[in-house]
Order: sequence, then structure tokens, then C-alpha cells
Amino acid sequence: MSIASGVAPDLRGLLLPELEEVAERLGEPRYRGRQLARWLYARGATTADEMTDLPHGFRARLRRDARISALALRRAETSPGGAATKFLVACEDGQTVECVLMRFDDGRRSACLSTQAGCAMGCAFCATGRGGFARNLSAGEIIGQALLIRAHADRRVSHAVFMGMGEPLANYDATVRAARILAAPHGCGIGMRHLTISTVGLVPQIHRLARERLQLVLAVSLHAPTDALRERLVPVNHRYPLADLLAACRAYVAETHRRITLEYVLIDGVNDGDAEARQLARLVRGLNCHVNLIPLNPVPGVPFARPPVERVRAFARVVRGQGIPVTVRIERGVEIQAACGQLRLRDGQGRPSRWTR
Ligand code: SF4
Repeated sequence: MSIASGVAPDLRGLLLPELEEVAERLGEPRYRGRQLARWLYARGATTADEMTDLPHGFRARLRRDARISALALRRAETSPGGAATKFLVACEDGQTVECVLMRFDDGRRSACLSTQAGCAMGCAFCATGRGGFARNLSAGEIIGQALLIRAHADRRVSHAVFMGMGEPLANYDATVRAARILAAPHGCGIGMRHLTISTVGLVPQIHRLARERLQLVLAVSLHAPTDALRERLVPVNHRYPLADLLAACRAYVAETHRRITLEYVLIDGVNDGDAEARQLARLVRGLNCHVNLIPLNPVPGVPFARPPVERVRAFARVVRGQGIPVTVRIERGVEIQAACGQLRLRDGQGRPSRWTR
């Protein structure tokens, strides 16, 4: 990645000290790094030529010895109510990923970012999982999505969630690097506390993230209260069963003093009964957590359905009745197939994989 190594660095994936180092190596004072950061992250520059307050010679050396990764917008779709706009973007090698601008009634704007092209986790209800895994995204490609979303937003993008395509913690270094850039004062200006990283439950990486002590929100996708059921829905449970996952969650809370979010996709007749609600409450009792219930986003070709509204409410009531904080998350953008991976599948990339219930 460094100029010294002979590989042109992607400026869009660098933190301020690294940009200062690039400036120095190209014969400029360190403060030019700060100017670079402003152009890259505050103004969203896509070429060195746009950086008009930099000396001509420096811009020429940047063109020669560095690069800025580019994302090409292939398609944008806005839901009828305007709550979400979904973007399909192509990386330089032609891989496509999705990202979403979410608009909330209280004025918040949030960017939902992908961290991988495809996903290897194979969750049974997920369009991305059915498309298979292509590759990790670089930090620059993750930041590129945030910048593209910001350019299309009607207001300041105040939040970002790593909840698009892919398992963020399976691409740990790029994900954490992107989070640091998004949150840095010289970066995109989204506070660390307004960032959420989701994981399907990679236990070693949860421990590693805890040691970073970042003030972001960790969202763990639980989806089932027993190992038997979770193994059917989330295959990674074979490797990291619930006891290990919950122990990692407790360790994370102890280390960071941050409340953890537990995501639970409700699937009609599969994991949405009162019995599962009680098991869930028992499982997480004593953990400083908040449970997010997400009625399933229907995926074409996957024989799982969204539960009726009454069932969703009843499930929430049982969990809440056991003293566990719970909210029902309204999926924004069901109308535009905003479940992760659906635009990409429709676009022809990603191989539908075998699926067994
Ligand atoms: S739900 Fe997330 S982790 Fe599971 S297959 Fe889909 S993208 Fe991957």
C-alpha cells in the first residue's frame, strides 16, 4: 500500500498520518496531508486534478504515484415513500455491490455500507448469501460508498451502518480502517458513536474488536435462541455456538462499556413463536443489550415468509415482558428489494447457491 513498497496507495483508504506520510514521500511538507484529507473526505474529490490548492508538481506526482479508487453508479432506486434509496455500484474490476441511503422521519440520514462483494456466510434467508462470495472490499471502496451516498443525500449523513453485503468482521482490517476514517475529524465527520458494525457472530473478531475499544455500536445477528435452530438459519453457528457467542458479547460489553445490539430476523413459523421469545429472553438475561426485531424482508426464491404484524407484536411483548429492551425495526425499502444482495442478484452478478432448509 505504501509508496515505498512500489504499490500505488489508494488515497481514499488512508488515515491522516498516512496521508501526511504520502505527502512527505512525494517531497511536500506534512501539512499537505491535511489538505489531501480535506479534498478526499470533506469534498469527495475523485482525481488529483480537482485539488486546485495543491501545487501543480504535487498533483502530477499524485497522479503518477498514487490513485483514488473509483466506484461507478450503475443504478439507483428510491422506495415509493422515499424512505430509502438503494445504489448498485461497480468497483474498478467490475464487481458490483450495494449501498443504501436511509431517510428517517426525525431528519437523520444513514448510510448502509457493504464490506464484501457477496458473502460466504450463507445465511438461509439472505439474498447475498445465496449469491456466494467474490472478494473483500478495500477500505477505499467502503469509503467510496459513503461518499457516493452523501453526494445523493438531501441532508447531512449523520450515521453509517456496516450492514450491507458481506460479513464486516470477516473483512476486519478494511472495515475497522473505514470506521476510523468515517469517524475521524479530518474524515467524513460521522461520530464513532453513530457507527454500527454488524456481525453474524465471528467470536475471535468480536474479542479483537473489543480490544480496540472503539465507541461504536456492535450489532450481533442472533436470529435464533437455540443452537439447533440457529444452525439451520446461520451456518456459522456450527463453528461458534451460542454459548461462545454470548460469552464474547459479555466480554465485549465488559471491555468497552458499550451496550450491544442483538438483531433478530423474525421468520413466519420458524423462530417467531412465544416459546422462542421466552428462550431468547432467558438467553440474553443479564447482558447489557438491546434486541432489534426485524420482520423478514422477503427474498424471491427463498421459502421463508414475513410474520403477520400481530405475531411480531406478540413476540416483542413476550421479550419485553421478561425485562429485555426491545424494538421492532421497520425495514426501509422492502418495496425496492432493499434486502442486501437483491439488486445485485437481479443485475446478474452472484451465483445463486444451493439452499436447504
Ligand atoms: S445475512 Fe449478512 S452474514 Fe448472512 S449471508 Fe447475508 S450478508 Fe452474509
